[in-house]
Amino acid sequence: MKLNEIIELDKKYYMNTFGNRTPVCFEYGKGINLWDTEGRKYYDFLAGIAVNALGHSHPKIVNAIKEQAEKLIHCSSLYYIEPQAKLAKKLVENSCADRVFFANSGAEANEGAIKLARIYFYKKGQPEKYEIITLINSFHGRTLATVAATGQEKYQKPYHPLMPGFKHVPINDLEALYNAVSENTCAIMLEPIQGESGVHPATDEYLKAVKKLCDDKGLLLIFDEIQTGLGRTGKLFGYQHSCVEPDIFTLAKALGGGVPIGAICAKEHVAQAFEPGDHGSTFGGNPLACAVGLSVLDTILEEKLAEKACEMGRYLMDCLSSLAQKHPIISEVRGKGLMIGVQLNSEKAVEIKDKCFEKGYLIGNVGKNILRLLPPLVVSREDIDGMVKILDEALEELH
Ligand SMILES: *Cc1c(COP(=O)(O)O)cnc(C)c1O
Repeated sequence: MKLNEIIELDKKYYMNTFGNRTPVCFEYGKGINLWDTEGRKYYDFLAGIAVNALGHSHPKIVNAIKEQAEKLIHCSSLYYIEPQAKLAKKLVENSCADRVFFANSGAEANEGAIKLARIYFYKKGQPEKYEIITLINSFHGRTLATVAATGQEKYQKPYHPLMPGFKHVPINDLEALYNAVSENTCAIMLEPIQGESGVHPATDEYLKAVKKLCDDKGLLLIFDEIQTGLGRTGKLFGYQHSCVEPDIFTLAKALGGGVPIGAICAKEHVAQAFEPGDHGSTFGGNPLACAVGLSVLDTILEEKLAEKACEMGRYLMDCLSSLAQKHPIISEVRGKGLMIGVQLNSEKAVEIKDKCFEKGYLIGNVGKNILRLLPPLVVSREDIDGMVKILDEALEELH
């Protein structure tokens, strides 16, 4: 099909929640590259918003899908499932969690984490502890509970009454957090680095103090690692930078390399609160998604992609900092590993993103002032050099 025909169908039949999308339709991908319906090649520095950590159509993912699809796609969790058990084991062996439950998306994993925090106190005989403190400018998903958890009014406004039980405080502000804790608080939930709102890291000191507060007050600490998890920040999990271990953390995005899967990971004493009948999912933990998740996690570990993300991230940040010297429109380059935000001091983010697109490079923008880079963890130095050159040109052309 021609691009204009596809756009016509979309405009007529698809719910218009994405507005005018970038006018392109990709037909296939390999590594960091994508090709559109006209055969034009692109470099993907957004990786499906942190999903395609291994790049596109990685042979190990493709094989895992093929092999598992030929054996068994679905059978329901009424029965034991080998890839589910194996992926749970691998996640536990490589993280601070003791048990895992699989969902189908990030929002759904967060829903499960919220339920787990509530049921944990319910079963302790403290049902009044149901409130979760989250951060302003956080992003936790689009379901009703996770929209209430998300600290951004634009996602909540049309959906009142919001689900009760959430309070929001500014990131890295301990005073505000201390003041928000009440006898109803059950947990504090945050992203180690806020992704969707423009790459805003929580400081290590803040995370350590939050952990201490949780210990002192008997609160659960939940990390939403849906974007920061699985190597993106230069360590396998974002929490490893601060050495603060959460009681519960959630994963999704990169875990399936594009096949939908989410995970709730928890310490034993917390995980125990879920007993038979307390939670469930039809698709969650199905053989196909878990076999793929296993191949993704194996590859990240075997190919040391977290370490690579650390190294390439440093290189990319250095290149971007040099660009900032040359182009004063860049006021800050921030992030960790390959989760990078470029703060601009004027409202040119969309224009710059569009210019890069025209030159065959996909990058993201957050609002009008921030560029976002989330390349696959397999990105090379040459890929980065190419992107930085194009970004340099795009910035040059602004004048
Ligand atoms: C993307 C994201 C989500 C939502 O994941 P979905 O799979 O879209 O539901 C939640 N939290 C964070 C931090 C995310 O980046």
